[in-house]
Amino acid sequence: MHWRRWKDICLPTDEGGLGFRRLEDVVQAFSLKLWWLFRSQQSLWAQFLLGKYCRSNHPILAPILHSASVVWRRLKGVGLIAELHIAWQLGQGCIFFWHDCWMGDMTLAQMFPYREHTSVQVVEFFDDTGWDIDKLLLVRLHYMAVQVESLPLCPDVLDRSMWKDTPDGRFSTKSAWQLVRTGSTLQAYCRMIWCPIIPQTISFFCWRLWHGLVSVDVIIQKRIRAHMASRCQCCSEIETIQHVFIDSTVAHQTATPSNLVEAVAPSQKQHRQALQQIKQRHAGAAAPFSSAYAGATVLPSSTGGVTVSSFLVAPVGTTVQSPFFSSNPSQQLARSKNPN
Ligand SMILES: [Zn+2]
Repeated sequence: MHWRRWKDICLPTDEGGLGFRRLEDVVQAFSLKLWWLFRSQQSLWAQFLLGKYCRSNHPILAPILHSASVVWRRLKGVGLIAELHIAWQLGQGCIFFWHDCWMGDMTLAQMFPYREHTSVQVVEFFDDTGWDIDKLLLVRLHYMAVQVESLPLCPDVLDRSMWKDTPDGRFSTKSAWQLVRTGSTLQAYCRMIWCPIIPQTISFFCWRLWHGLVSVDVIIQKRIRAHMASRCQCCSEIETIQHVFIDSTVAHQTATPSNLVEAVAPSQKQHRQALQQIKQRHAGAAAPFSSAYAGATVLPSSTGGVTVSSFLVAPVGTTVQSPFFSSNPSQQLARSKNPN
């Protein structure tokens, strides 16, 4: 039985997934890296590709010939996306006037879509003293003629490429992966589940519990669409997640803050740190501190004695709530105080 779709697992933990990356996204991210290397380096490989496929054209305008290599096809597959995230710091001007982003956030081709966009280079608008304003006016770029006045020329320095999605302008595969992946919204409960002080096995179990991926009778019935008898191992109630982990007698006997903190942080030092972190996390909540523990429980031995922390219950004021639990933490607190 498949518990969760691969697509849903392949999300960062703070977006409700398990932190895996889709192989397609990783391949795409490395293709972007390849394009970045092709555009930003003066290597023999880059010059060979430029000479063979682009000649004097901008790489995004170069066609894909029948005889084109696999690498060139792969590069062309991501070229348009990659170019949107590359900016240039003007140096000697060996970059494309219309199609490279060297002034502002857009290329001139994007700013003036109805002009003729040739593959002319910026250096061709320089003369011996600086910018050739007459030439700029010749291509009807009065706007540019004013703007370039404030742009200092450094003809002895190489043009420098910058990746727009990192603060230092250097390409990172992580930023490329962020570009190509399909993201989801940040989930408030994930911060509680994947808290650094909780061992990962417990975090993982909490994640399963939150999404109702635990094999209690009612969930199995629902998944295999079959009617079957259900009875909790500790009483005669129907075995639901709500019952086993929150409402049952065993859950109430074990749901104490010290039990939980000891379970997730065995040493004295970890214990103190854990309590402090939990207090800080719930400091802004309207409910009393203890309500954070409402509904917390340790599973009976029949389920392997796995500890479930109270971090599953979001503080009052947050809207995220698992459909497998009661929606009001204060009700859960009341239940935990008065099990009968
Ligand atoms: Zn029971």
